[in-house]
Parts: sequence; C-alpha cells; structure tokens
Amino acid sequence: MMNLVTDVSELTVAQTRRALDARELSAVELTAAFLERIAQLDGEIGAYLHVMHDVALAQAAAADRRLLGGEVSPLTGIPVALKDVLCTIDAPTTAASRILEGFRPPYDATVVRRLREQGAVFLGKANTDEFAMGSSNENSAFKPVRNPWNRDRVPGGSSGGPAAAVAASLATVSLGSDTGGSIRQPAGFCGVVGLKPTYGRVSRLGLMAFASSLDQIGPFARTVEDAAIALQAIAGHDPLDSTSSPEPVPNYGEALTGDIRGMKIGIADEYTVDGMEPGVARAVAAAIVRFRDLGAELVNVSLPHTKYALPTYYITAPAEASANLARYDGVKYGLAIEAPTLRETYERTRGEGFGPEVKRRIMLGTYALSSGYYDAYYVKAQKVRTLIKRDFDEAWSKVDAIVAPTSPTVAFPLGARTDDPYQMYLADVFTIPANMAGIPGVAVPCGLSEGLPVSLQVLGPAFAEGTILRIADAYERSESWSARRPDLPGAAN
Ligand code: GLN
Repeated sequence: MMNLVTDVSELTVAQTRRALDARELSAVELTAAFLERIAQLDGEIGAYLHVMHDVALAQAAAADRRLLGGEVSPLTGIPVALKDVLCTIDAPTTAASRILEGFRPPYDATVVRRLREQGAVFLGKANTDEFAMGSSNENSAFKPVRNPWNRDRVPGGSSGGPAAAVAASLATVSLGSDTGGSIRQPAGFCGVVGLKPTYGRVSRLGLMAFASSLDQIGPFARTVEDAAIALQAIAGHDPLDSTSSPEPVPNYGEALTGDIRGMKIGIADEYTVDGMEPGVARAVAAAIVRFRDLGAELVNVSLPHTKYALPTYYITAPAEASANLARYDGVKYGLAIEAPTLRETYERTRGEGFGPEVKRRIMLGTYALSSGYYDAYYVKAQKVRTLIKRDFDEAWSKVDAIVAPTSPTVAFPLGARTDDPYQMYLADVFTIPANMAGIPGVAVPCGLSEGLPVSLQVLGPAFAEGTILRIADAYERSESWSARRPDLPGAAN
C-alpha cells in the first residue's frame, strides 16, 4: 500500500507539480501529509520554530480551487518552509531570538508576498541561529536543529532549519538567507542544493537585517532544477528595496540544458586550506574530474585576496549588525523589560533579550565603528573588500565559473565548536568570499565522507545564476548524490 506520508514528501517540486496538475494528488492531501510527517519527526530534528498548520491547510484548499481553473504558477500548492527571519503577517517572526518572542510583523517580506500570490503553501517558520549569526544553528534561543543524516551532528547554519526541513522531507523547498554562507554551508552539511543569488537579485524587504550590504535570500531544494524554479519565483526588482536590481530576470529553467561542453571552469588554489578533511578534498577532486569528463575545460585561476575575506567579513558584518540591531530597544518591537529609566529599559531588554553570540557581534561591530578605530578597521575592511571583488572580476575574464568546496569539513558534532567562536567562524571560510564580492553561488552535493554529505559550490559572475545553475545541473545529472536521502523513519532510501 502506498504510504502517502513518505511518498509525497519525497517528491521534487517538478514531480509534485506534475502530480497536482494531473489531479493524482490534491494540495490539501499533500499538505496534510507534510503536517503529519512534521508532527511525527520534527520533535527529533527541530527544523521548525512555528508550524503554520491552519494557514497551510487554508492555502492548500485555495490552491486546489486554483487548480480547478485558475491561473496556476510553478509553486501553486507546493509546501514551503520559511526561515524565521522572513516577515510573515500571519505567523510570528522571531529571528530565533528572545527579544522578538511572539512578535508578529505588520507586513509580509516581498519574497513571502510573491510566494503567497503564486499559491505556495507555508508549512511554517524554520529554525535559525539567532539573527542569522552562526554556522551550526546552535545559537537559536529556542532549540538546536539536528542534522537529519546523523542527529548528533549540526545541520550547519545559520539556515539550519530550512536545510534540515528539505533534507528530512519536512518541506519540498525552503527559503533561507546567506550573509556569509548561511544557505550554502547548511545545504552542504544536510546534502541538499542551496543557492545564494547575486546581491540585489532578490528583494530584501521584510528580511530582518543582519548585514545589509551582504544579506541575500535564496532557496534550498532537492535538485538544481527545483532551486531554479524557486529562484524564478522570488527574483526581480522591488520598488520597495532600493538595493534590488532592475536587471531583467532570465528564464532559469531554459538554462538547464545539461550541456557544459566548452565551458571554462576555474579552479583556485585559495580554496584549499589547512585542516581540510581528506574525505572532503577527495570528493571535490573527483567532482572536478567529472566536470572535465562532461566536456568543460578546467582553468587555474588565482584569487590572492580571498584569504582576507574571513577577517574582512568579521569587521564588516558585525559593524552593520551593530547598527541594524540598535532598533531592538524594548520600545518598538517584541520584548520590553520596563525599568525606572529609559536607559535601564534599554539595558535590561537588550541584556536579557539577546544571546551571547549576538552580543559578541554588537560589541565587535561597535568597536570597529567607534571614533579612532573606524579608519583602521571599517574603512580598511571596505578597501580589502574591493580587492577581493577585483580578483573575481579578473577571473571572469578567463572563466565562466569557479568550482570550489562549500566547506572544509562535513557536519561537525553538536557542541564541538560552541566554546570556540573562531573555530565556528572558520566553517565559512569558503563561502564568505562570494558574499564579499556580491556574486552568486550554488552548493550541490558531491559525495559522502564518514556517511555525511560533502558539497561543492559553483560561483559565477554577478547575475550569472543561469550559468552556475546550468553547470550544477549538468553535474547533478551525471551523479546520484542529490538523490541520496538520510535514513529517517518512513523515508525511502
Ligand atoms: N556563519 C556566518 C556568521 O555567523 C554567516 C552567517 C550568515 O550567512 N547569515 O556570520
């Protein structure tokens, strides 16, 4: 007998679309199956902070009506998880912080509005590191997320919830945000596809700001094709976000030709570091050979300033965060601990509302921006950032894309790095350069090491999402890694 809870949750967006359009399945049946699976399994995984049970069923019923005769979009009836830094008018949005516990935004993020208009079904708000600061999801004020492949391991971060939700078949597709790697790194740790678009490709309106010059929203999916479908649904100019680009949005599906013959793929020595796990190095090396077998030409490129990306990021991102988080003062939003004076109200609200990593970032950033240090730290970081970007610009005169490991290790054990922020920061050493340069990157599974997923990322020039998706898709078609699922109760392997 068909096990509905297992079978439909395993489908890709494209397969679900066909099943819904052919009336083999209704959106309500599909949604109910996901809600049941979440109820059964998410206690162990922790991917969701808030399940939007009633909203999801109402959206599914509306999707079914639309399927009977209305205009159907690629995501009509498709179950989606939303990282809890994306504002939703009908569900709490907390950024996994006590300071926003129970907060309900007065509007939807633009990406949320777009998905809603297209008839997507919102299963819930997915767990994250507090204010998207972290690489393991252990900085969530509410609960950690466990990696579906091994529940003693982290899922990566900060979008650990959206990554684990797709990996554990608790959503068909999800949205996260990537400031320094928070889509690609958890996608890699959880064995799913994760895409960080070009800075400005997707509107940031309604994304709770962490570092505004770096933040970008993007999808997690089971396949590159699904990531392309989800990007198509959210990309494009938004008059309400002045940093969103007016650059026209191409048809990403058409880019997925499966053919990368003659394309030039760059390999950079800078994406090898001490401490890289041999199993990761081996899997990525094997993937690089595969690109050559598929007819691409491998070209060595040099990115000499990439080694400064991590320190530069840890000036720039905390500096912007310290300014962005000033708004959480106990007066305007969420938690308010009233005290005799306004100053004490601020101090107590912020002292009790923010977790330790968020406080560390606010202190680092305030220091880097303070008079006397501003030029030495912040201005210098901006200059180095330009050099990092120029290295990439130079590379694009020689190659169509660059392939590199997503992370130097597979998912590490829960608790292994919580006492050592520097070790935690190093988890993003390969993802941060793309954010500093504003370029797109897509992470794709490329193997297993110690039974855990290994991932490679394809980086490309600004607005070349079509190119990197095409390369990642061609690779995915030649391999079976994306199709491997973790061993969970009720999940087929
Ligand atoms: N892990 C990095 C940090 O902690 C990146 C986070 C992100 O991309 N949101 O800042």
